[in-house]
Amino acid sequence: MTRSGRLDVVCGPMFAGKTEELLRRVRRAEIAGLRIEVFSHALDTRRGIGAVSSHSGQRIASRSVGDAAEIEIVVAQQPDLDLVAIDEAHFFGPALLATASRLADSGLVVVVAGLDVTFDARPFEPLPSLMALADRVDALTAVCSTCGADAAFHQKSTSQKSAGDHNDAKGADARDMVSEHVGGTDIYQARCRRHVEQAWWRGADARLASEVTSSPSGRQSMPSLTEAGEIGEGLLYGNAAR
Ligand SMILES: [Zn+2]
Repeated sequence: MTRSGRLDVVCGPMFAGKTEELLRRVRRAEIAGLRIEVFSHALDTRRGIGAVSSHSGQRIASRSVGDAAEIEIVVAQQPDLDLVAIDEAHFFGPALLATASRLADSGLVVVVAGLDVTFDARPFEPLPSLMALADRVDALTAVCSTCGADAAFHQKSTSQKSAGDHNDAKGADARDMVSEHVGGTDIYQARCRRHVEQAWWRGADARLASEVTSSPSGRQSMPSLTEAGEIGEGLLYGNAAR
């Protein structure tokens, strides 16, 4: 290995400016003359295929891929790359952990941005695992819609809670939920710890979740439920906020 690779993670709730930070780093790398590839997920079509854009309107060309393996295939075809940026990393699922680590091993700077928390304040893989293996983590906060404090969480707005609640959709395919939700507006709000109302540990299923995670046979149960229920949710806020 001639170069020193690294894995940088930019994470936080919705409205924290994760994509803005990702694009800031990409722009800096461009100024430095580095060779860059920006990836977005094919599921994430809200800003148009082939572009990553932030709340503030910054926009940069990206390559839309279907899964983490495709990222490695594309990168392998460009041996002169310096930096790989991956937006909305939560869409890629657990496979991104090995992919991002291998790319960093190969000498690339890998910058990954995505949601690390679901609307009911559950850890949202693969971001928590990526954070554990990262060289650098920047956990951004949004602004609480109730009090203006730093917000590490987001939740469904009260008016949308019953209409759009997919807590019961365990095992449903994320892609099905996406089509249901496209076109929704103002579904999510940033909340501080004091004002996040839908945190799972305060809910009726918290006891069940504790049992599941402590049971020897149920080790992966919580993350997989979360993934099944939340990939579609992640698509939504773009329609509300971007
Ligand atoms: Zn607050």
